[in-house]
Amino acid sequence: MTKTLQAVRGMKDILPDEAEIWENFEDIIRDWLKCYGYRPIRMPIVEPEPLFRRAIGEVTDIVEKEMYAFEDAANGERLALRPEGTAGCVRATVIQRNLVTSGGPQRLYYLGPMFRHERPQGERYRQFHQVGVEALGFAGPDIDAELIVMCARLWGQLGLTDVKLELNSLGSVEERASHREALVAYLEANRDKLDEDSQRRLHSNPLRILDTKNPAMQEVVEAAPRLAEHLGEESLAHFAGVQALLNEAGIAFRINHRLVRGLDYYNRTVFEWVSGQLGAQGTVCAGGRYDALVGQLGGKPMPAAGFAVGVERLLALWRESGELEFAVERSAPDVYVVHQGERAQRLGFCAAEALRDIGFDVLMHCGDGSFKSQMRKADASGATLALVIGEEEAAAGEVGIKPLRNDDEQSRVSFQALPEAVAGAIYGIETPQDYIPQAEEGQGVEHGSV
Ligand code: ATP
Ligand code: MG
Repeated sequence: MTKTLQAVRGMKDILPDEAEIWENFEDIIRDWLKCYGYRPIRMPIVEPEPLFRRAIGEVTDIVEKEMYAFEDAANGERLALRPEGTAGCVRATVIQRNLVTSGGPQRLYYLGPMFRHERPQGERYRQFHQVGVEALGFAGPDIDAELIVMCARLWGQLGLTDVKLELNSLGSVEERASHREALVAYLEANRDKLDEDSQRRLHSNPLRILDTKNPAMQEVVEAAPRLAEHLGEESLAHFAGVQALLNEAGIAFRINHRLVRGLDYYNRTVFEWVSGQLGAQGTVCAGGRYDALVGQLGGKPMPAAGFAVGVERLLALWRESGELEFAVERSAPDVYVVHQGERAQRLGFCAAEALRDIGFDVLMHCGDGSFKSQMRKADASGATLALVIGEEEAAAGEVGIKPLRNDDEQSRVSFQALPEAVAGAIYGIETPQDYIPQAEEGQGVEHGSV
């Protein structure tokens, strides 16, 4: 027997009940970003593979093991499904175009799928989604603080109370080099305490050893030389500037000396928002400053900072908090059209269109079914009203209106009086004309001839 076709492991279908939650969430996200002046950008999901190798770094988990890279069968070009959005965003706006030079600093965001070939577990997938936020062309600590403050506002809007901020500074390239020397010397001296992965990275990416999740290595990395001890005056002032603004905004944070981030392009401020409720997948949002990235990709160096929110993890937290169900509007039609007979069906179609013209959501019963079974479907749809049209109503050019959510009697009105009567029944008002939502000019279609 052949196996039923299944979605790829680690890539999940988002079915309607869940997709509605996503759409509600995306509305909240767009409003939130707009209120800070961030504008949308949409990049391709597939990019040239070298973009990620150069941006993220060769010796990183993503490039070494997690990237979906492949050859374009037609021309042999190396391509990759994007594992993150920053590289593509910078490619599109700064490397390929000069948006910042021509239009000034840019506040941008995107929301979409990312792909990493890692082991699926908890809220860790192979296709997952990020809200990415990038501020390009800003050098000061003020934008770092803005990025963090806006995250705090989002947690507040979603009603999340248990997301904690961890902060660190990675300094400049030179400061990292000086720290690296001390770190490698220390790790060399403690080589026997390092696991295989860390021994391999000792010279290629020693900083990453600091954020190892291996419990056996916690002690040795905790005692390692700290980056903070190698920061120069400018980096210290920048870090102090960020902290001062966070304190001003009343945002609590913990300085985590071992927070180094998994992507190579970060410098100075790095941060993570972590929840205790998602197990080992506790980071819902991560970001920082990446002043070196543009230069690394061949552009004229330009300061920048940003972060990415893991959508699946944030939604899981939101659900866990119990706040999600209050905030999400389930879609139910205003009106469900029940009909019997050919003439009634035709009148029903016209009635439905006439109500849609003035802004109501209408579900037309399609297919056969007795009045009774259609009424059951109307009820189950969550509609406020049923329009009931039988042979008799159709012959008279009239329509029955049956409230489904209260004990009001069924009424009967002429087709012409329908919009007003439906608005009256839904809004419960006596002079409904003023309240009928108007369709955009020119969109309306003439109905009424049956
Ligand atoms: P982790 O340490 O959990 O692997 P990361 O450092 O690799 O995270 P980033 O590259 O900083 O993650 O991505 C930002 C956010 O995107 C993460 O904080 C997380 O919320 C989310 N994220 C990253 N990888 C995944 C994944 N495989 N599945 C679901 N969400 C993810
Ligand atoms: Mg990862």
